[in-house]
Amino acid sequence: MNICVIGAGYVGLITALCFSKKENKVICVEKNLEKLNMLRNGTPTIFENGLNELLKESLSTNSVQFTENLEFGIRSSDIIFIAVGTPAKENWDVDIAQVEGVINQISPYIEKYKLVVTKSTVPVGTQRYIKSKLLENNVERENFDVVSNPEFLREGKAIYDFFYGDKIVIGCDSGKAEETMKKLYEPFKIKMVLTNPETAELIKYTSNALLSVKISFMNEIANLCNEVGADIDVIAYALGLDKRISPLFLRAGIGYGGSCFPKDTKALVKMSENHNCNLEILKATVNVNEKQRVLPVKILKEYYKNIEGKIVAILGLTFKPDTDDIREASSLYIIEELLKNKVNIKVYDPMVTKEIKNIFPDITYCDDMYECLAGSDAMIICTEWSEFYNIDLFKAGELMAQSVIIDGRNILDMKNIKDANINAYYSIGKGNIKN
Ligand code: NAD
Repeated sequence: MNICVIGAGYVGLITALCFSKKENKVICVEKNLEKLNMLRNGTPTIFENGLNELLKESLSTNSVQFTENLEFGIRSSDIIFIAVGTPAKENWDVDIAQVEGVINQISPYIEKYKLVVTKSTVPVGTQRYIKSKLLENNVERENFDVVSNPEFLREGKAIYDFFYGDKIVIGCDSGKAEETMKKLYEPFKIKMVLTNPETAELIKYTSNALLSVKISFMNEIANLCNEVGADIDVIAYALGLDKRISPLFLRAGIGYGGSCFPKDTKALVKMSENHNCNLEILKATVNVNEKQRVLPVKILKEYYKNIEGKIVAILGLTFKPDTDDIREASSLYIIEELLKNKVNIKVYDPMVTKEIKNIFPDITYCDDMYECLAGSDAMIICTEWSEFYNIDLFKAGELMAQSVIIDGRNILDMKNIKDANINAYYSIGKGNIKN
């Protein structure tokens, strides 16, 4: 099929390349010229497993083209995927300005039948809104259908998820559109959920909300564990043996981040309020997460009483390992809080990007974790990058001015900690050690 994907971000780029691998001709339209040039030259714009190879292969077979020419993309395609950003507004509403912008831009070029598909996560009712917008822009009704096809990929495993995901959700109210979507996804052999647009849109938000609820719930139980001497990892293991619960998303830590969970949970709270419904559990989930992600600062203040002038080493900046995405990462909130308290900050992340240097130009960026630890009064593990699991605690203890460790992702082995004779160790629900 001839496909146009608008937006070459995480979702758009993966969508374009994965469709191109399944015998489709894909044109990917991106307005950011820096990204566009990189992609045309075969340079990945994001860090993602398998992306380098897939990008080069799709370019060499000419099955994907990157362009800023929207008219060319629309006129050459039968299916148009919208994969632009839908950030949260200050008041938690979803900002769909980029989607609206795309609808206005593409309208003049829809002169024969096209499917307009939203991959972006959009509030319930957006499909209907897009339809009315297209009509308002004088696109003939018989020349389009609108489909909701939310994306569930996980960053870091995005390509795998696109090919082998658990489900494909398709929401539309036209038999013709449904048939085209089924044909497009048939080669992926993934279970399809065919439904109306509102249900499809709400599945996406409910999915992210439920995963966030699981995380915040376990984080609250972890905080209780530290008070009563219980071990959150053993609790999570035991819970996970129950097939009704599933072992996934039960890991305690310093909160969820990323480009989806924080904004989508808030959006669902707001969306429900706009419809006079009150999602109490989800509101609590958001509150718990906001407290949990700055818990290390609270711990440090309790330990030192006054943290002004202390040197704190942050290990890991990205919101999770195996990605270079720092959006809504707990590390950002911790650094902000520490800076407010006039703490000197050293950071190390294997994927540090220029983006974070723009946000925090005045902190110290280190090239490896031991350089980061040298002379510091505390270490906070914010991201569970694999290299941090094997940290040499004796070396760390020698390098640090005071070996206070806050293991925000519970990756260090309690036994090694005890042997290493460090000043203090704080976990999230596995107990603390003070020497
Ligand atoms: P992103 O910000 O990484 O990418 C969006 C891209 O669209 C940018 O490169 C931007 O320059 C481009 N763009 C915006 N307007 C454009 C226009 N008019 N023409 C051409 N290009 C344009 O965003 P993302 O992370 O890929 O997310 C996109 C959507 O997918 C969001 O709604 C998000 O909630 C949803 N989503 C994201 C993920 C994820 O893991 N990142 C997963 C599932 C769903």
